[in-house]
Order: sequence, then structure tokens, then C-alpha cells
Amino acid sequence: MNKMNDAEFENKLREFFEANYEYLKETSGHSINQAMKEQALEQVFLYWKKHKDMILGGEISSVKLSAGNLRTPNQNIPFALEGEINTSEKDGQITLFDITTKSREQIENDIDFYQDELNLFAYEAEKMSLETSGKAFALSTSIPKDIRYAIKTGDTESLQEALQNWNPLVPIECSKDAQEAALSKIGEVVEKIHNCEFDPPPISELKKKYKDGKSFCSHVCENCDIRKSCESYITYSGK
Ligand code: SF4
Repeated sequence: MNKMNDAEFENKLREFFEANYEYLKETSGHSINQAMKEQALEQVFLYWKKHKDMILGGEISSVKLSAGNLRTPNQNIPFALEGEINTSEKDGQITLFDITTKSREQIENDIDFYQDELNLFAYEAEKMSLETSGKAFALSTSIPKDIRYAIKTGDTESLQEALQNWNPLVPIECSKDAQEAALSKIGEVVEKIHNCEFDPPPISELKKKYKDGKSFCSHVCENCDIRKSCESYITYSGK
């Protein structure tokens, strides 16, 4: 693969993109128009350009992790964790990371979520004796506005500058305390499931504002598949 030139590589990416798109269309029953498809493909190319060295360096991989014999904090209910996380390896050191379509700002606004997630994976990695660097990050694939604008206006100089300034990696703090806090939170969720407590949060939670001024409802509920049957959402949004 690394002997291909850039044009050949982009052709290959286009092929993979088309095959993946067809697969998703067949399995989900959803399709998008040509303009949206081109925008999605552009995002793939930009992601490739930005992370080319890391990808071709063979540093990126993914690993399945699990941890058993866990107990919930209040009711001592046994549970286990398992999942798959991306890894980046440099100088023999493995760093855990999550890829998301959220923007850098959205990740920073929702940093607790990423901190909990990556600390749970760090805990599982430790239990499986995987030697990690102790660092983690969230990688945003969302294209920043200045890059989109430079592409739209065809300003190649501004595009190069914007690509250079684009920093899609958000560092996530990993520590013993953060691991314990994340384990406790997930344990409380296990208890709720075990006790069949599925009530949605109160409306005050839906109103809660993030740093960008948007509410929990705009950030989370608008993307929630069960919102049309959620009492809190229906009452709050009137939809
Ligand atoms: S719409 Fe979904 S995310 Fe929002 S409160 Fe209801 S269940 Fe939770």
C-alpha cells in the first residue's frame, strides 16, 4: 500500500468509500444526495492528508479489551466490561484514542464523557497487562469552518494555512482517580438497568447549557433514536 502515489491512494479511498456507502445504504435503508456524498468523501481525503504519516507509519491499530469480576458501588452487583478501542504506537508505547465525528469544541464541551470512556478502556488495558503510555486522546474528524471556507472559495494558500493550524487531537487525562470515578458511574448505570429504572432525566437536565450555549436537548436528545417516545423530550420540545 505505501508504494502507491497520492493519486492512486485517493482512487483506492474512493473505491473503499463507495463500497462502504453501498453497504451502509443496504443495511440501514438510508441514502444521501450526491452533494452530501462529495462532502463526506472530502472529509475522508482531508482526514487522510492530515494523518498520512501516522497511518502509513503503521502506528494505528485497534484492540479488544475486557475486564471482569467488577462490582457495582451500592448493590455489589457483578458485571464485566468489554469493548474495542483504537491504539497508536510510537517508540514501543501504546496510546489509547477514540475517533469521533464531533468537532474539537464539542469534544471539549463534553470532555467528561471522553474522560470516562478512555479511563474505562485504560482500566481494561491495565487488567489485561497491556503496557500503555498512560496518555489518551480523542480525535475529531469534523472539518473546521476555516478549512471548509478555503475549499469553497478555492483559496489554496488559506487552505494550506488552515490545514497546518488544524489540531484535531484533544488530550484526555488518565489517572487512577478518573478510572475509579468512571467505574463508579458505569456501576450506577448497571444498577439502574438491573433494577429496571429507565425513566428519562427531568426537564431541568434537558435545559442544562453546555459551554457553547446549546442545551443538553440540542446536543444529545436531538440525536437520540427514542426521543419520539421520551416523555421529557416531548414535554420540553413540544414535538
Ligand atoms: S430524548 Fe433520549 S437522550 Fe433525551 S432525555 Fe429522552 S431518552 Fe434521554
